Amino acid sequence: MNKITLLLIALVAIVLTACGSSKAKENDIKVADDEVIVYFCKDITPENILKLYEALGVKQEGKIGLKVHFGEEGNQNFLNPELLRPLVKKTNATFVETNVLYVSKRRFTDQHIALAKEHGFTFAPIDILDDEGEIEYAATGLKHFDKIKTGSHFANYDAYIIYSHFKGHGSAGFGGAIKNVSMGFASPGGKMAMHASNVPAVKHGDQCVHCNRCVQQCPANAIVLTEGGPVIDSSKCLGCAKCIAECGFGIFSPGGFTSGEEFLEKLVEYAKVFVEKKPMVFINVMDNISKTCDCSAKAPKPFMDKIGAVASTDIVAVDLVCHDLCAKKQNTEDAFKDVNDVSGRGQCEYAAKLGMGKMKYVLVDVTTGKRITLEDALK
Ligand code: SF4
Ligand code: SF4
Repeated sequence: MNKITLLLIALVAIVLTACGSSKAKENDIKVADDEVIVYFCKDITPENILKLYEALGVKQEGKIGLKVHFGEEGNQNFLNPELLRPLVKKTNATFVETNVLYVSKRRFTDQHIALAKEHGFTFAPIDILDDEGEIEYAATGLKHFDKIKTGSHFANYDAYIIYSHFKGHGSAGFGGAIKNVSMGFASPGGKMAMHASNVPAVKHGDQCVHCNRCVQQCPANAIVLTEGGPVIDSSKCLGCAKCIAECGFGIFSPGGFTSGEEFLEKLVEYAKVFVEKKPMVFINVMDNISKTCDCSAKAPKPFMDKIGAVASTDIVAVDLVCHDLCAKKQNTEDAFKDVNDVSGRGQCEYAAKLGMGKMKYVLVDVTTGKRITLEDALK
């Protein structure tokens, strides 16, 4: 290697180092190799949500999807969509979601969109990503999956903003960015793969009206209608969950629920594939912190006061800081284990183990640009 080559390599290294730490330098904040910056605002306002996004300094170009949760019908805790108005104006983003597995207005695209509008998500286009079916991505090196399933429209976006309501979740401990990405982008078949065994269960077969819809929609010809309702041939079933999604009478449901550590690992593995497919940034809002998620038609009242909002380019750190803030606020080790008997911290630990992000963060007040402690954030 001659001197000129060595000089060029050194110059490139200097430029790359300077670019990587420009935000930190600007704020005079030192960040170690195993740390990442998480921006914080105490006042949850539309202006501050935009400020958090801008502080990340990430240039997202092309078609941007803003992953939200519209809130189940009857849910009173979902985030006020008005918080997103300036961010939508700035990014020209589309609200994106996927249909759910259970009987609800959010199971069918037209009703899902109507509910979203009723809930105030009126100022950007809405795209239900699995409206036209699902696609699969290959997954390698994972414990539970060799492929994952998402809505076909997922591929249509150049970048995503993951906007998550940080609150409790019965099976995951808490629901934050990791859960919003994994369950939130999964098609019904993907949701079922995380939640349950692959073959749906038939319940209340006697209530089947023999409309034949499930039989027509099943891609594997695995369903036979009998007098007592549908019967699934498990040797043919592909686990696509179309029958669950298509039957308007709730005859099918996921068969047997995965829980505990295995469920958390499955969530994280799905999220890993998604974050590797598209550039994403993460904003978590800690308000209306109930023990259950916004899929609950009647969620319990919040069990702690609002804390603020955070943003990061790191999906692990953004959830971990919320976990830590909630624990400190409640003066406990794990605020969500206390109420749900599941530690959501396991999501972060497994995600870090898979190389998805960092377990150490530097908290920075987005207004002052100064480093702050968890205690400062809670003052
Ligand atoms: S879609 Fe539902 S109601 Fe219709 S035949 Fe299938 S199980 Fe019965
Ligand atoms: S999960 Fe899919 S393949 Fe299996 S029975 Fe239902 S529609 Fe058919």
